[in-house]
Amino acid sequence: MSTLFISDLHLSVSRPQIIDLFLRFLQGPAQDAEHLYILGDLFDYWVGDDMLQLESLADLGTALKQLADSDVSVHITHGNRDFLLGQKFTQATGSTLLKETTVIDLYGTPALIMHGDSLCTDDVEHQAWRQQVLSSQWQQAFLAQSLDKRIEIAQSLRQQSEKNKQHKAMEIMDANQQAVEDIMRQHKVKLLIHGHTHRPGRHRFELDGEPARRIVLGDWYQQGSVLVCTGDDWELIELGLLD
Ligand code: MN
Repeated sequence: MSTLFISDLHLSVSRPQIIDLFLRFLQGPAQDAEHLYILGDLFDYWVGDDMLQLESLADLGTALKQLADSDVSVHITHGNRDFLLGQKFTQATGSTLLKETTVIDLYGTPALIMHGDSLCTDDVEHQAWRQQVLSSQWQQAFLAQSLDKRIEIAQSLRQQSEKNKQHKAMEIMDANQQAVEDIMRQHKVKLLIHGHTHRPGRHRFELDGEPARRIVLGDWYQQGSVLVCTGDDWELIELGLLD
């Protein structure tokens, strides 16, 4: 039995190869898993569950539902791009929405799982934006607009964010070690799994005199990045694009 972790697929109609790759993953390797955890930013942007009506996303919803209807439990956390994924989405896809931070029992080891953008505390600008968009007041005002308008806003925010990133040092956009240790202590774990930074890797360090690990998932830009856990064994695998 295995548990799979993925994040940062940034699914978007502008990158159809990645949508195809994800569909093949759902209909292929994911079928053999016990659990699939999607740790945020499944979509490049999600401006409300009425996006499910979009024809371009219909296959995705169906494939997720089919996977959940087989014996695979599918869990999703919000990312900073798709924090508006809601109950209608989870109902339609048979998935469950997890809190921002969740501790799971991973074959006997407690593991804290999260998207990870809240760990990038050096990126003050991002943290301020995060506070704003997570407020219910902001979300209500945003959702009150038409779907077309919301998509337009999301696309322009996307472009703005890409521009801003070019001026930010790489270290600023990485997880802050103090924030990592604080949250692990708070949840009493020695294992943390997250995405967001697009810097896949395994980090080992000491936490209060004990060995601790942080595993970072990769994104789905040039390939599909999947963390496979089978008890004591870990593997970070890459799924290739067809063309
Ligand atoms: Mn992210």
